[in-house]
Amino acid sequence: MSMLIFEISKPGRRCSTLPKCDVDFVAVPEEFKRNIPMNLPEVAEIDLVRHYTNLSRNAFGVDNGFYPLGSCTMKYNPKINEDVAALKGFTAVHPLQPEETVQGSLEAMHVLGDRLCKITGMDAITLQPAAGAHGEFTGLSMIKAYQLDKGETQRNKLIVPDSAHGTNPASAVMAGFTVVNIPSTPEGTVDIDALKKAVGDDTAALMLTNPNTVGLFEKDIVKIAEIVHNAGGLLYYDGANLNAVMGITRPGDMGFDVTHLNLHKTFSTPHGGGGPGSGPVACKAILAPFLPAPVVTFNNGAYTFAKPAKSIGRVRSFYGNFLVYIRALTYIMSIGAEGIREAAENAVLNANYMMEMLKDSYDVPFGGPCMHEFVLSIERLKKQTGISAADIAKGLVDKGIHPPTMYFPLIVPEALMLEPTETESRETLDNAIRAFKEVYAMAFDNPQALRDAPLTTPVGRPDETTAVRNPILSYTVNN
Ligand SMILES: *Cc1c(COP(=O)(O)O)cnc(C)c1O
Repeated sequence: MSMLIFEISKPGRRCSTLPKCDVDFVAVPEEFKRNIPMNLPEVAEIDLVRHYTNLSRNAFGVDNGFYPLGSCTMKYNPKINEDVAALKGFTAVHPLQPEETVQGSLEAMHVLGDRLCKITGMDAITLQPAAGAHGEFTGLSMIKAYQLDKGETQRNKLIVPDSAHGTNPASAVMAGFTVVNIPSTPEGTVDIDALKKAVGDDTAALMLTNPNTVGLFEKDIVKIAEIVHNAGGLLYYDGANLNAVMGITRPGDMGFDVTHLNLHKTFSTPHGGGGPGSGPVACKAILAPFLPAPVVTFNNGAYTFAKPAKSIGRVRSFYGNFLVYIRALTYIMSIGAEGIREAAENAVLNANYMMEMLKDSYDVPFGGPCMHEFVLSIERLKKQTGISAADIAKGLVDKGIHPPTMYFPLIVPEALMLEPTETESRETLDNAIRAFKEVYAMAFDNPQALRDAPLTTPVGRPDETTAVRNPILSYTVNN
């Protein structure tokens, strides 16, 4: 393991040469001075460069290799996004500056909002939420406010299919709803009869993603929307899977009333540790009065912040992750409307190609063409060899591939979910297919090697429970 930068520190080492001070020295008054000197690492420039270069090699990112993490859309993040987000005009503004001095930044937010509304088929938008789950909470809070505003105080149930992403029921509970789970059909789509039985006077909304979490398109979506609307409920679209359909179909046209988008998935901005996320929420006109404040509006030739009439309030400090918006806007403007559609088409093509090529070894629980991702089940292989989905995933790490999503969706035992995305070449997919097949063969020929994998990473197999329940996240400085 790498040493901490504090451990390589030696008193007096420096990597900066400051110019001679050209103003008079003013002593800091005693009462403002620290009692103990600040503990800063002292290193030479070469040690600093090596330290961070080596640290970066301990992690795996989309810039290192293939990253088919299902449901996460780990597409390549074009570097032009970074160039535009680094422009002084965007980085040197302050959120408390008067509106008339930041018209360009407001325009960028307005244009991004407009493009996202066009892509989703919605009328109004907030860019504030900081992630997908935060967007879910925001959109569901708007639905709650809408139902209460209509005097429908009894509408406290949120219908969620059993295949849903874990954040869906969690956000529903956070927003004060009771979750009603409905089962999926054996084909993996919404059970219409179960939905008909579940809706009623107490239905606030149905929360759905389409294509759904097993990678299938809900063909009956218009009928589903009708059933929910006729019962007085609204439809929430989990837009995390928009990469499969953008430019082809729109949640607004399918009958959804509100959706969040993951800029860090579909719109090529960095994920998690690579940068802050962003989960804008777009909605139909009926929900626009409930959007969080402030929203950017354009009146009499100027951009201003405004508060929607029945706003649920602020959900994020200032205006959200502004430089992430700039990256997403750069992506949308550089590929254009045609590129948006092409991205979705190639994402679906790549997923189907991989699925077809893996079908003769791995079990594919849901047949037929998939959308942008697909699910494999290791259940039968596990019965035959004792090798689990986790073992397969660890074996792939040694082949330079980030594991697929494991043990999700929950309705498939020993699941592996793959989402290759549109940015991977035929050669990368073929190499990955070969690696998946090699690992599959290892389950029979050399299962112990798979149980020992990975051998090429700084950390092999941590105790996953301890790593989650008792992580050591702090370091005690001895001096
Ligand atoms: C990623 C994802 C979310 C949550 O998004 P975060 O930005 O991680 O909070 C919600 N639903 C689905 C289907 C997702 O894939």
